[in-house]
Formats: sequence, C-alpha cells, structure tokens
Amino acid sequence: MRNNTFEEIAAALAQGKSILLFPHIHADGDALGSCSALCRALRKAGKDCWVLIEDRIPENLQFLDRDYCTTDQDILGAPDLSVCVDCSDMDRIHNRGRRFLSAKVTVCIDHHRTTDSFCDLNYIDSSAAATGELIYGLLTACGAEIDREIAEAIFAAIVTDTGRFQYSNTSRHTHEIAAALYDAGIDAGHICTEIYESMRMERLMIRNMALNTMSTVAGGRAVIAYVTQEMLRETGAFLDETDGIVEELRSIKGVEAAVFLKEAEDGSIKVSMRSKEALNVAEIAQTMGGGGHIRAAGCTLTCSLSDAYDQIRNRLTDGLERL
Ligand code: 5GP
Ligand code: MN
Repeated sequence: MRNNTFEEIAAALAQGKSILLFPHIHADGDALGSCSALCRALRKAGKDCWVLIEDRIPENLQFLDRDYCTTDQDILGAPDLSVCVDCSDMDRIHNRGRRFLSAKVTVCIDHHRTTDSFCDLNYIDSSAAATGELIYGLLTACGAEIDREIAEAIFAAIVTDTGRFQYSNTSRHTHEIAAALYDAGIDAGHICTEIYESMRMERLMIRNMALNTMSTVAGGRAVIAYVTQEMLRETGAFLDETDGIVEELRSIKGVEAAVFLKEAEDGSIKVSMRSKEALNVAEIAQTMGGGGHIRAAGCTLTCSLSDAYDQIRNRLTDGLERL
C-alpha cells in the first residue's frame, strides 16, 4: 500500500472546485475538528466545500460547526472531489456512500491502523495520534495559512483523540503541532471548556446508570458494561452521550481491557473496546468485522445484547490468556 504525498493531495484539491468532506459516522472530535479545519481552509482558497454528515453532532462539539456541516447530500451535486476524513472504510461512510463515490476523484486522509487504501489518493498514517495531525501536515505542506479558527479545530481534533495528550499515541510531534497551534493564537483552555465542561445533566445520569451495569471478566483483567435503549429513554440521554464511559472503565487499576456495549436504535450492538498496555483490540475487532487502533477499536454486531456480551467475554478471555 503506497501513500500519496501531501503535495499530490494538495495538487488534486487545488484543481477541484467543489469538494465534499466525509467524517466517519457518529463523528467524534477528531473527525469533526479535522473536517472543520479543512473545510475552512478550502473555502478560504475559493472552493465550494461542505462537510456531509448524517447524524447528530454531540452538544459539546457543536462549536466546531460554523456552518460547515450539512445533511443535504445534494448540496453540491456530484462533487469534483470527495475526501473521507478519519474514516477507515466505506462502511463508516455509511448512508453517504453513493454520494462519496459520485466524485471524479476520491481521497482518504486517516490514521486508523486497519485502513486499506480504498480511494484514488490516500494518506494513511497510523503513527499519527489524530487525523488532525495529518490535516495540519497537509495544510502546512500546501502553504495554507493556519489561522486561529483552523488551529482551534485542529487542537480539538488532537486533544480529543489523545485523551488530552495522555494516551500512548501522543508523541513529541503531537506536542510540536500543539505548540504551533498556540503560535496561531488558540485559546486552549476555552476549547477544553467547550469540549469537556459543557455536558448536559442527562449525560451524567446515563453514565451513572451505565457504570452500574459493570462486571468483570477474565479474573478482573477486563470489564464490560452496557447501555440499552430503555436506559436512554429513562434518562433522556442520547447514545453519543455515553462516549467516554469505556475509557473510565479502562482506568480501573489492574484492568487491561474494557468493553462498552451500546444497543443502537435499530437493535444492533455497537461495541467499543479499549486496552491499556498489552492487548491488541484492533485485532479482536477485526475478527468481528470492525477495526480501529491497537488501544481503541470497535465493531457492530447484529445479535442480542446478551449474545454480544457472551461473544465479547469469550474473545477477551482468549485474548488475555494469550498475552
Ligand atoms: P469508538 O469506540 O470510540 O466508537 O471507536 C474506537 C475506534 O474504533 C475508532 O478509532 C473507530 O474508528 C474504531 N471503530 C469503532 N467502530 C468501528 C467499526 O464498526 N468498524 C471499524 N472498522 N472501526 C470501528
Ligand atoms: Mn481519529
């Protein structure tokens, strides 16, 4: 698999007039921050550019959408370029796939370990802590000005995907980019207040209820918890407001792996997996049709919650025994 260079991708972007950006489904801080930064830079360069989404933006990330995001798949017709951002495969472009493929040229900018090059132009670097790092690289390679708003969107991407610069994916380079973003005038404290201290009360209520479902497997080396549609109805919380719970489960002393099971509206089970220092959860997710990173991965299962629970418990036990 050969990557294109940032220069090749910048040249393709320069040639297009209409450009649609595709974050992965259930876009997170990295996907939305990266898309917002790229969208602003491309609009400043005179392009017709939109971020095409298909679901709700979580409250605490809505500040990133300064009229960049749309759910209107026909907003540009068939674009000159489609760019998928932080998105590892067509599955995660979900119901926007036909629009994605209607472009003359498709581009992928991503940092997932399990991503194969499925576009005309690809820049996939699993050593990057966040796709936001790659957007920073692309914009600087093509000489685009990193203004304050672009810098804040990239900072949001990086701060969320690195768990506030704590996770093992955080590198010297990550901090160097953050330093450059400070030079561009970011108010890092304010961005963190937007992201981490702007929760709805319902979010704390669903967290409380979900943590109550916690159980240990593999002799306490793994923890599993879940959320059901019924629990969401009872608390009035949205499913995306359970983001972050799986990291809390992992934070328990002696726990190597944490799994959070989410019953989606259509009854499917979305699996979020995390590991601390040893288990490769991307590998486990891949065997169940998903993917991700070594320490953070996921998949979607079409079975009952209790079947999903049993399957996951067995795979975790196997995986942990083999370490
Ligand atoms: P999360 O648990 O936060 O939803 O996802 C953690 C990581 O696993 C993300 O980097 C995400 O890309 C990956 N991931 C989650 N669900 C899926 C999935 O269904 N398919 C693939 N390929 N990756 C997933
Ligand atoms: Mn990411």
